Amino acid sequence: MTHPYRLAKMTWQEMEERIEECATILVPIGSTEQHGPALPLDNDHFVATRFGEIVCENLWPELKVTLAPTLAFGHSPHHMDFKGTITLDEVNFAELLIDIAMSLAQHGFSNIIFINGHGGNGAAIRIALNKLHKISVAKVFSIDWWSTIKDEESELFSQPFFHACDMETSVSWALGQRVLEDKRVDEPGKFPYPEFVATGFSMKDHTDTGVVGNSTKATEEKGAVAVKLVVERIVAFVKSLNTN
Ligand SMILES: [Zn+2]
Repeated sequence: MTHPYRLAKMTWQEMEERIEECATILVPIGSTEQHGPALPLDNDHFVATRFGEIVCENLWPELKVTLAPTLAFGHSPHHMDFKGTITLDEVNFAELLIDIAMSLAQHGFSNIIFINGHGGNGAAIRIALNKLHKISVAKVFSIDWWSTIKDEESELFSQPFFHACDMETSVSWALGQRVLEDKRVDEPGKFPYPEFVATGFSMKDHTDTGVVGNSTKATEEKGAVAVKLVVERIVAFVKSLNTN
């Protein structure tokens, strides 16, 4: 059965009633981009969607939060040297986020929370959040799932979070992602400049396989521990908004 938290499965009249009960909505956003040889191209929007679903299931029926359809595309020009990646221009992507939030705010949602699955979306999200704040249509937030467990990352995983690495592969696995276990690799990545230097780049400059990290260390079990923590922290944040 389709769970009743999905915006896309409600009629407009059901949606009208739901907003009266709870004016908070989660909007998963991600990307369609390469994730090395062991993870599929949908990884970042798959993960964002799964977190959105699990958070809603944890909150219901106490808080009847709505889940919007996932935005499956993001800003990934640095992955375009790998087949299958689809990228949006950064400004277009920011405008999309603004349009989505303004539509939801017009219907009466007062808390709009993007659940982000892709690090490369960061700059566009920041542009969108600042513009939306200026026109103050609603309270609009964005959560990078990996940031919620920054304090636990080194305890749980062999290396810091990067791309298609131990942490990302473990978490995706625990969320039900397709993982090609024997294709997992250990590729630390090549970084020719000091960390304090920023420059435009292609992931091809840093990695041959598309991985930066060690996905051979990934396990579903470690991922499940991380998923539980991520969900707890997002759930606590959503509850805090609804008790103010
Ligand atoms: Zn990813």
